[in-house]
Amino acid sequence: MAQRFLVTGGAGYVGSHLVAALLDRGDDVVVLDSLRTGHRAAVLPGARLVELDLADPSGVDAVLADGPWGAVFHFASLSLVGESMRLPFRYLAENGVNAIRLIESCVRHGVERFVLSSTANLFGTPETVPIPETARIDPGSPYGESKWMIERALLWAGRIHGLHSACLRYFNAAGADPAGRLGEDHEPETHLIPLVIDAALGRRPPVEVFGTDYPTSDGTCIRDYVHVTDLADAHLLALAKLVDGNVTWNLGNGAGHSVLAVIRSVEHVAARKVPHRLGTRRPGDPAVLVAGAKAALSAGWRPKFAALDDIVRTALAWRDAHPGGYGDPAPEHVRPSS
Ligand code: UDP
Repeated sequence: MAQRFLVTGGAGYVGSHLVAALLDRGDDVVVLDSLRTGHRAAVLPGARLVELDLADPSGVDAVLADGPWGAVFHFASLSLVGESMRLPFRYLAENGVNAIRLIESCVRHGVERFVLSSTANLFGTPETVPIPETARIDPGSPYGESKWMIERALLWAGRIHGLHSACLRYFNAAGADPAGRLGEDHEPETHLIPLVIDAALGRRPPVEVFGTDYPTSDGTCIRDYVHVTDLADAHLLALAKLVDGNVTWNLGNGAGHSVLAVIRSVEHVAARKVPHRLGTRRPGDPAVLVAGAKAALSAGWRPKFAALDDIVRTALAWRDAHPGGYGDPAPEHVRPSS
């Protein structure tokens, strides 16, 4: 039977792909998004968009009063690790406090299931790789710390009020909707795969490789790239598991790819050279982050786009078709030459 879901941040990158997955299976979806970083065009027809900032607790409360809700999915947040190192209190206050108020409002209105978009940044520089779900929490930034605050608030919401919750710790979300409806469009873009693709397409300056002296096989950082549609699938599975209790999953493919390997993958898939230059380390980057996703895999999660080339292929298709992203005017350097 179709259910009704609230998705905060449903106009953003991962949130919009979850909205697509819910709509595809026939559910009703209300998206709550300030559109500060999300895009109106990323909310697919069929979902209702409420343009609202989570900093407005009475507005949020009025939306939640209009239940019943099958669950609340919470994506809306500031999400730039580097920015959080400059603006720690903004991240702790906005991400942490807004989410805690949202959880409180969920409890007040009888919401029984809550799914949180969390992060591998909780593990900081890990002691063991792949990182198991049980690894020590030591956030690498105020961004990660703010997600940990929310995970702790959910723990207490569960113990005291019986709210069931899933904390899904993403590794490096990448790729785009395989049907071509949605993709990745951040301003500013700081993520490796879109920057490498745009450099290959001649829409951005050469990519800078942040550090070549890490203790890895080629000296560049290793990350675990996970397809955004596979992340959306994991949310649906986690939701189904929330009848039995709480869920804490690491979401990644368990395979690491270096920055140079990502460049080679894009060169292979796009059949173009990627202009790049070797640069210095970016502060705060751990050498290797790879997921031990045992809990999600034993619950039945089966990523469909585990191979890096397949992830890159979907990302390339969307960026190729959307030179200016979601229709916001393209900056000068990304406009294709006519
Ligand atoms: N990276 C890079 N050049 C860039 C952007 C990123 O070398 O212009 C590297 C970065 O240092 C990291 C990896 O690519 O090792 C993935 O970075 P991204 O910002 O995409 O995700 P993060 O791992 O920081 O969440």
